[in-house]
Amino acid sequence: MSSPLAVISGAGIAGLAAAWWLHCAGWRTVVVERAPHLRDSGHMMGLSGPGLATVRKMGLVPRLQTVAYPDRGPHIYRSRNDRDILRVDYRNLLTGIEWITLRRTELVRILHEETAGCTDLRLNTTITAFDNRDTGIGVQLSDGSQLDADLLIGADGVHSTLRRQVFVPDAACLRPLGYRYAAYDVPDAGSLGEGFISYPEPGIQSEYYGLTQGRLAALHVWRSQVDGFVPPTERRALLQSLSTRSHPFVRATLAALEPDAELVIDDLAMVELPSWRSQRVVMLGDAAHSLSLISGQGAGMALASASVLANELERAAGHGQTPNATQLDAALSTHDARLRPSVLKLQQRSRKLAPAFVPATAWAFHLRNLALRAMPGVMIKRFFLSGLKSEAEAMAALR
Ligand SMILES: Cc1cc2nc3c(=O)[nH]c(=O)nc-3n(C[C@H](O)[C@H](O)[C@H](O)COP(=O)(O)OP(=O)(O)OC[C@H]3O[C@@H](n4cnc5c(N)ncnc54)[C@H](O)[C@@H]3O)c2cc1C
Repeated sequence: MSSPLAVISGAGIAGLAAAWWLHCAGWRTVVVERAPHLRDSGHMMGLSGPGLATVRKMGLVPRLQTVAYPDRGPHIYRSRNDRDILRVDYRNLLTGIEWITLRRTELVRILHEETAGCTDLRLNTTITAFDNRDTGIGVQLSDGSQLDADLLIGADGVHSTLRRQVFVPDAACLRPLGYRYAAYDVPDAGSLGEGFISYPEPGIQSEYYGLTQGRLAALHVWRSQVDGFVPPTERRALLQSLSTRSHPFVRATLAALEPDAELVIDDLAMVELPSWRSQRVVMLGDAAHSLSLISGQGAGMALASASVLANELERAAGHGQTPNATQLDAALSTHDARLRPSVLKLQQRSRKLAPAFVPATAWAFHLRNLALRAMPGVMIKRFFLSGLKSEAEAMAALR
């Protein structure tokens, strides 16, 4: 008898991690990715807590360290009048706390390489139809193939197609937090090198990590009354209109953006779904429970969720064994029960932090800067310690 088969929609962090963990549990996987290639630009992110614990279990830390951003030297926060608001050396300040800073694309690339021999990855492919039954799930792909699978995993991100088809429309589960973000790679016009600089202003924050080969990873986060899709043709003009009064570095860097550069603009939104499963379909990662970048744990929980899912499937049916409907039901219930308390806590934290994430008014902005200048160590440590507390709670709930 052949081993069970999972079809995974989405080759992001959640989808590729699921392929890796399911392979360990004796499953076969087919991963379908809508994009014609895996993206080679993308935002910077930190892995700590549950995410770091999961990549450690996967034995990936040494590889990730080779592409990690060193975070050496001060992170500089500078006003639009070119005055330093704050300089923080996080590695010195937060001794004893472990994290890895890297680009999302590097993590995806490494997961892709690690799963190369154990999954069937189909780029430029989507799911066109499926037949969700108690006994199995038939999945039809846009490349013409028809697969008889045991499980269909929706790891297709915050704007998941599968979630809309199986669960609820976006309006019923997407919770915008009142911000938008933009992320892109750009030539380093200001010679930042491997440094980090942030230009916070009332209502918008622009920050830059120096990458190798003279490029920067840029991120803007701003308050926005409107949400929804921004057409690619309007994105550059939108950013320009938001930064007319910004520091010259911000405007010069935006002007240096190549015409064909990939410029991602999206809402900061959480996904709240009361159930992540329906018969033989289960959602993972941002598709199931986007936490938003405010939590700093979205990728971490995507990794942890993939590991818990594979672990529970193996426990319910045995290594490489096809679960019957009762065993599958038990595995998916336990996956939900182990993960949900952590997700709810992290979402609650995002909701709580959101109003002050980027101060809206000049007055609120000024007050925050005063407090930061007066006692930077205390404020930053308090922020990180509250983050660590929620990470510790998340890890405890996952056990
Ligand atoms: C600016 C920013 C900073 C962040 N910082 C952190 C951080 O510091 N720490 C942290 O842990 N998290 C962070 N996050 C969150 C983290 O990036 C996400 O939680 C994580 O990438 C989610 O992974 P995913 O695989 O669920 O979704 P995604 O990364 O969105 O991947 C989904 C994949 O599915 C594909 N897809 C979409 N639709 C279809 C379809 N119909 N068919 C097939 N494929 C499809 C997409 O092309 C994509 O490859 C940050 C996010 C942002 C935006």
